[in-house]
Amino acid sequence: MSSDPTTNGHLALVAPPRLLHDEDGGADANGNGAVHDSANGASNGNGRPTQLPTIGGQVVDPADIAAEIEVLSAEEAVAWAIETFHPALRFAVSFQKTSSVMVDIAHGVEPGSDFFYLDTDLLFPETYTTRDALADRYRIDFDRNAGLSLEEQERLHGANLWRRHPESCCGIRKVEPMREALDGAKCWVSGIRRVDSKTRAGAAKFGWDKRFGLWKLNPLADWTDEQVWNHIRENDVPYNPLHDQGFPSIGCTHCTSKPAEGEDSRAGRWAGMDRTECGLNG
Ligand code: SF4
Repeated sequence: MSSDPTTNGHLALVAPPRLLHDEDGGADANGNGAVHDSANGASNGNGRPTQLPTIGGQVVDPADIAAEIEVLSAEEAVAWAIETFHPALRFAVSFQKTSSVMVDIAHGVEPGSDFFYLDTDLLFPETYTTRDALADRYRIDFDRNAGLSLEEQERLHGANLWRRHPESCCGIRKVEPMREALDGAKCWVSGIRRVDSKTRAGAAKFGWDKRFGLWKLNPLADWTDEQVWNHIRENDVPYNPLHDQGFPSIGCTHCTSKPAEGEDSRAGRWAGMDRTECGLNG
């Protein structure tokens, strides 16, 4: 597929974004669409050089293009992202229900799409079963990314780091492997939705991800549970059986429980802790 967004059919869906300047023009975006002057070697605060929001080699205003992607359907948004960024486009797969939908949509557009997952070594057996079922159905090789072994983590940081310092545990087991997974990518795709939690209620479908220094697409941002399940059933897509056992959101075994009646779908993640995200999406 072409990686030039000015020469493909799908970009007819999206007007050309307003260009700010050429890629080496010496300006910097702050992740919210605002642009300010910066010295060479500016950092995004996590030790990596700040990347400029570019498409097709030209710096664009993230707010402009986000507004145009916002009105696209999930299928259109994924098709546009594949046409624009593939093969520098990575789909993050958690093997939850939204991942099943994303895999089905992306595979339908580009069977060679790049899917990866973060293996914390603490995933549920059902999650691995779902991985294998999706791999089998779509003939996908999911790229596995992992941090330290559990033994090495305990040797370096002590036992039960997940309980004492979950932010460090997620940093080691999720955020660092994520950086490796995104190495060389220009855009990544997440399955987050606005209905997941209050902290995700304002998630845009597309934007500049300052944390990882690349674009991020959330094609299912405006999908309801009903839309997700309809897509899965209508297309007979394999999904994580833990959803049928009362787990709306599924992560590591240590940090996942069933939410109580009336709680939002992510209330069972890090229940009892002052924590709602692992550091990948917020
Ligand atoms: S979800 Fe829990 S066990 Fe998994 S990486 Fe984060 S803190 Fe560690």
